[in-house]
Amino acid sequence: MYDLILKGGRIYDGSGMPSFLGDLAIRDGRIEEIGRINASADRVLDVSGLAVAPGIIDFHTHFDAQLWWDPLASTSHEHGVTTVVTGNCGLTLAPCKPESRDALIGTFVRVEAMPRKSLQAGIPWEWTTHGEYLNALEQKPLGLNVATLVGHCAVRQYAMGEACVEREANDSEIAEMEELVRQGMAAGAFGFSTNSNQSHYREDGKPVASRFAALDEIARLCRVVGESQRGLVQFTHGAFATPEHVAHISQWYDTILKETQRPLIGESIRHRWSEPELWRKQLNDVEERCRQGYAAYAMTSTRPSVRRWTLKDSNRLDEISAWKTLMTMPLELRKILLGDPKTRDELDKAMTEGKPINFSRRWNCIAIKKAARAENKNLEGKSIDELAQSQSKQPIDAFLDLALGEDLETTFEDSTTQGDIQAVKEIFNNPHVLLGQSDAGAHVANATPGFGYSTIMLAHWVREHQIMSLEDAVKKLTFLPASLFGIHDRGLLRRGMAADVVVFDPEKIDLAEPEKVADLPEGAPRYIQRAKGIHYTIVNGSVLMKNGAHTGVYPGRVLRSV
Ligand SMILES: [Zn+2]
Repeated sequence: MYDLILKGGRIYDGSGMPSFLGDLAIRDGRIEEIGRINASADRVLDVSGLAVAPGIIDFHTHFDAQLWWDPLASTSHEHGVTTVVTGNCGLTLAPCKPESRDALIGTFVRVEAMPRKSLQAGIPWEWTTHGEYLNALEQKPLGLNVATLVGHCAVRQYAMGEACVEREANDSEIAEMEELVRQGMAAGAFGFSTNSNQSHYREDGKPVASRFAALDEIARLCRVVGESQRGLVQFTHGAFATPEHVAHISQWYDTILKETQRPLIGESIRHRWSEPELWRKQLNDVEERCRQGYAAYAMTSTRPSVRRWTLKDSNRLDEISAWKTLMTMPLELRKILLGDPKTRDELDKAMTEGKPINFSRRWNCIAIKKAARAENKNLEGKSIDELAQSQSKQPIDAFLDLALGEDLETTFEDSTTQGDIQAVKEIFNNPHVLLGQSDAGAHVANATPGFGYSTIMLAHWVREHQIMSLEDAVKKLTFLPASLFGIHDRGLLRRGMAADVVVFDPEKIDLAEPEKVADLPEGAPRYIQRAKGIHYTIVNGSVLMKNGAHTGVYPGRVLRSV
């Protein structure tokens, strides 16, 4: 007799091996059997025609605060996420002395763009140490499993007070920080995170504390992680701003890897039109560190930075001067010129002259997002290239004929990052690149929130663009992060593993349109994004989410690395 049987699904077990048809039986929160199962169960779910995969592990979140008022880490639970890792980018709420609470809040407010009034009202501060934070969280209902990192900024603030945002630490301060990291690891943290991003400041305009660390401090704190022989280091450094910053970043990389001998998640690699070859250099750097024997990993965002615009009122094409001149003309004159063959010729030429900055200048990278007229609805989703081919026109004519025919109301879409599919394919398929970087819980006013990075992966990149197999994508979203962090009983569907499962329809899985809601403490607004085609999220054997709705249970746990 089992608690739950999922019957007749196609199992993507997280290993990357070929999927197979099979039933899956769960008892006491664990997977007991996979294959043809004839035994009975308290509950049997018919999942025929659906994919059954390990729950998604969102390894880069900033849910440190949100979990206190939102134990579902919504809307992550609707996307099949079963475990979230908090404490990234050097930012945690523990350890923290009472007098430093406001300073930590100020860091989250500025770096992670969360409203101060929500943080002030929503964080219960029932802890001082990292272990006490974990214990307090354990007392709360949790929808998902939570694993934490110890954040460098919190540790530095604890040991140095406000001097942490003014200067390097002295020997005894570093010794105290070592002890704090050691205690955090002993309590069950999955590693340490640090941050040297030159654009990361606190609310009061001072750089975040970790940016003041000298190499010796980084070395000593990372050595503590190494001592435990578990967990990893996460390092955020932002864009390569100046040659000095590049040198600084590479010193930190070398130091972290040498001192910890543990996995490192560092580089954020994306294709950008502004620096279209940078990703290649970044991948080479990661691979070089791996050749030296280190477990160096990068991450990438599955979500392109999308821009939506019309030819009525947009500055999207302003980096091309011929277009900018045209777009600043009065509307009626602009329409006349857009219909003029000679102007079209000039605009078309201008597209191919000069280098892209933020705009791709490629017709196959501009899509029709929303047609204004009913008879053009069938064109939505097509690229301008596809449109031109189907109409046997030049792309510039297809583009402008459509726009003019809709009184310039057509909404087009393109992206500043991850817009080159060939580059995306190489980045995503690299074995040293993790898929994620959701920053879920942060940047709440962003209309494309981090929730759903796995959904966009499975829908957009796997189904629509076929840049990798579904098996490989599932592995990258589950088993790979679980293994790196050392969450050894999750991320795979195998006998004895914790029963964290997502059930979805590979043909229908997709993102819903983002929605603005006002559910943060004190009624502050944020954007959420829900999913389509995800039938169940199962955490520790209990059905947490069914067809987008929370079932009312809280089966999540605080995970500990010990
Ligand atoms: Zn982050």
